[in-house]
Amino acid sequence: TVSAPYRGRFAPSPTGPLHFGSLLAAVGSFADARANAGVWLVRIEDLDRNRTVAGADAHILSTLETFGLWWDKQVVYQSQRNSHYEAALERLRRDGLSYPCACTRREIAAHGIQGPEGPIYTGHCRNGLPQGRVARSERLRIDGDQLSLTDAVQGPITQQLMTEVGDIVLRRADGFYAYQLAVVVDDGDQAITQVVRGADLLISTPRQLYLQRCLGLPQPGYAHLPLVLGDDGRKLSKSLAAAPVDPSDPLPALDRAWRFLGQTPLAAQPHSVSEFWQQAIPRWDRARIPRGPLRIDAEAATRL
Ligand code: GLU
Ligand code: ZN
Repeated sequence: TVSAPYRGRFAPSPTGPLHFGSLLAAVGSFADARANAGVWLVRIEDLDRNRTVAGADAHILSTLETFGLWWDKQVVYQSQRNSHYEAALERLRRDGLSYPCACTRREIAAHGIQGPEGPIYTGHCRNGLPQGRVARSERLRIDGDQLSLTDAVQGPITQQLMTEVGDIVLRRADGFYAYQLAVVVDDGDQAITQVVRGADLLISTPRQLYLQRCLGLPQPGYAHLPLVLGDDGRKLSKSLAAAPVDPSDPLPALDRAWRFLGQTPLAAQPHSVSEFWQQAIPRWDRARIPRGPLRIDAEAATRL
């Protein structure tokens, strides 16, 4: 088979400035794309207006530039792509793969099964809305056996979506399209061949594969970078170490990200970010990326 030319992406949610964990995802996806002479795209995932912080997109983009992470094509904003998500949802409806759901969060919690990410929806409205109830959200009808993939960093993953996840939301009660739908539609439209991102999204990958199949989209390869935890063992985004990276002094943070990703040190001390990348890109070796999780101490994080 002829493999398609490499197309990768970085897809930050504009909820605040880049912290070390998100820089790692940017650096890893950029390096992997550039080392493969690929295209690297940036997509701002600003679907959820409740979480979006005004100006955070511009801040993230200028931070990427400062770190020498240059992208191809125009930046895509999810908030401007509703018609694409609606078209995908319409296709799923037409194929009988989506259905309206009347359940509230509280009702779903009361229905029973507790999963690792919260209560698992047990298909209450699968065969029609209960009498007298109105639709709040729309869900994907998930059937079939377990789904497996081999992640380039994390190795083989298997999930039985029906029992471990349940019918996922495609359009939320607040009217927003769900991340899972948007990310699959966008990766498809942008013809992404390689998804390189943080390991917090590994658990979402089987449902994204499922949705790709439902929508007739090709399946990209996946490489999930190690999660970075604070020295308190909590997710970086929730710990002290979530301090924003300092765009005024990018080289130390770049160097740190490079070493966190298991890469060999550069031969000569770079004096600029472009010098850094000139040396770094040919050295990039995906096989060296550790599975993680990695720890970073709060004191070091403040020096990033
Ligand atoms: N927007 C997501 C985040 O910042 C990333 C989505 C993805 O890379 O698939 O966590
Ligand atoms: Zn329901």
